[in-house]
Amino acid sequence: MFGKGVLKGLGVTMKHWLYTYVDDIRKIPSRYAGGRDILKQMPDEEGIFTIQYPEEKRVIPERYRFTPMLLYDAATGKDLCTACGICTKVCPTQCIWIVRDKDEKGKPISRPAEFYIDASLCMNCGLCSEFCPFGAIKPNHDFERAVYDRHQDMIYDKQALLVPLEYHAAIHPTEYAEEEAAKAAKAQAKARRAQSRRRRGSAADRKPGEDGAD
Ligand code: SF4
Ligand code: SF4
Repeated sequence: MFGKGVLKGLGVTMKHWLYTYVDDIRKIPSRYAGGRDILKQMPDEEGIFTIQYPEEKRVIPERYRFTPMLLYDAATGKDLCTACGICTKVCPTQCIWIVRDKDEKGKPISRPAEFYIDASLCMNCGLCSEFCPFGAIKPNHDFERAVYDRHQDMIYDKQALLVPLEYHAAIHPTEYAEEEAAKAAKAQAKARRAQSRRRRGSAADRKPGEDGAD
């Protein structure tokens, strides 16, 4: 019959359209809640496969890397960055510029006065973060950074890059917990070393016979 193929095609389309609702209703409140369903959704599953962005967003894995951010301690207001310059040296695209701060006498101090990243060159490799000895620079998750002028608007200054440590803790909970555990272990080891030094010092100060041994 003329048009049979067209009707069959429309039927298939209609079936998939209906399955969209069946699948979405099955996964109420949302098939995208928590992001797990999207990650697990297989090609043979029915329904809409496209994420309804920007209303719906994929949950970003912790290890996702985008243009880096600079951390500061909100409690003290201090930058974690010491302007050591290591990140500028390891950056493969050479897209980081730092100007070290100076005190009132003009002596350089361990703090960046200016810090720039050209996000149009950054390839999100994360090397700056891996090599930073102070944990001051970390890959951000914020990928919604479309601009009109890449030559001006994609050069982020220190103000645009700074985020509080709590933000890093929120988007990288595992990494943050490991860092805190390492810091605590280091502090404990330092305290133990100081204690044993004090013990050795007081033993050396003690005069022979004072402890009744001689
Ligand atoms: S971000 Fe880290 S590696 Fe880069 S200058 Fe600051 S302290 Fe050094
Ligand atoms: S992520 Fe890679 S390319 Fe981007 S600033 Fe860091 S080292 Fe450079």
